[in-house]
Amino acid sequence: MSRRIFIAGNWKMNLLLVEALELVGKLKEQLRDVKAVDIAVCPSSVYVQQVAKSLSDSNIGVGAQNVYYREKGAFTGEVSTGMLIDVGVKYVILGHSERRHILNETNEDVNLKTQAVLASGLTPIVCVGELLAEREAGTTELVIKSQIESAFVNVAAADMKKCVIAYEPVWAIGTGKVATPDQAEEVHLFIRNLIEKKYGKDIAESVRIQYGGSVNDENAKEILAKPNVDGALVGGASLKVEPFVKIVKSAL
Ligand code: PEP
Repeated sequence: MSRRIFIAGNWKMNLLLVEALELVGKLKEQLRDVKAVDIAVCPSSVYVQQVAKSLSDSNIGVGAQNVYYREKGAFTGEVSTGMLIDVGVKYVILGHSERRHILNETNEDVNLKTQAVLASGLTPIVCVGELLAEREAGTTELVIKSQIESAFVNVAAADMKKCVIAYEPVWAIGTGKVATPDQAEEVHLFIRNLIEKKYGKDIAESVRIQYGGSVNDENAKEILAKPNVDGALVGGASLKVEPFVKIVKSAL
């Protein structure tokens, strides 16, 4: 089964509008001919509308970095799936480690959001990953198993197929300390086997698993060459044209 590589840029809380539009203007131009890779950028929710508008005639999709799981109502400060769809969003990053560890998002929150995103027709990018202390204590698989199992509670097989998972070891995010290709492959295979146990081989083989954590234009090719690595969720290196273009092209 061949899975299309998917490279997404997570801009986090960076770039003002003028910088965001300049960046996507150049990405659009320089990635115009890339047909074999799915590409997305995930701006701040304040700017998704303008970025999506600027990318509407391109091969680059737009993702949000978070969403709330209720459709509407008295949830001050939150954004719904319907609002994201309304402004041209296609993907939603869920359970990023910064949301889990700085903003106290729980496995249960991630599951409710995953269900809501799937029900809306958007594509979730569900992030999982262990802390350094957990890796050092030898509990990486336990942590990943619990995050994966809880994220997909009440998710039917037909929906599971549409999900993207991002394995992002927390110790590698924004630290410059990238997982080795073998470390990434080992956890990606573990995740695929967990999906297979619950949903069967066909679905497990179709789910895309991105790697995230200090991916840059120098290490991307080697990581993306691993059989169970189906793309990358890129933070810092997605904020500039040249490294992001090179990362996408290294997947060709
Ligand atoms: C991320 O935020 O998802 C990420 C992987 O960041 P960085 O590439 O900067 O480590």
